[in-house]
Amino acid sequence: MSIKITEKCINCGACEPECPNQAIYEGGKKWRMSDGTSLKKKEILDLDPTIFQEPKKKDIYFIVPEKCTECVGFYDQPQCIMICPVQCCIPDNKNYENKEELIQKKSFLHENI
Ligand code: SF4
Ligand code: SF4
Repeated sequence: MSIKITEKCINCGACEPECPNQAIYEGGKKWRMSDGTSLKKKEILDLDPTIFQEPKKKDIYFIVPEKCTECVGFYDQPQCIMICPVQCCIPDNKNYENKEELIQKKSFLHENI
């Protein structure tokens, strides 16, 4: 499942560069599926992956569930959970995916890598 960031976030920014899928964004920043992935072509998704999307949070860092793979395919543990100094990165039970689904998602995001 995806990881989510709770309201306890202190906006330190430590997690953002650690994410292998570039799924973490600063509050108020627009995001794209193509950031940090190999999704560059329109036809891959209904949604054009190169178009900027509205921020999911305004005041604290947020994780884009569509891009989070729990670090599957890159690391044994979710890197944001490991590095967050205030333990505000937690499993997002509303976005449950099993290991197999996460492996497929990683392949989808990084098709040619
Ligand atoms: Fe990124 Fe991994 Fe955290 Fe998901 S669990 S947001 S892929 S660092
Ligand atoms: Fe927020 Fe934790 Fe990320 Fe720092 S490491 S920006 S406190 S989620």
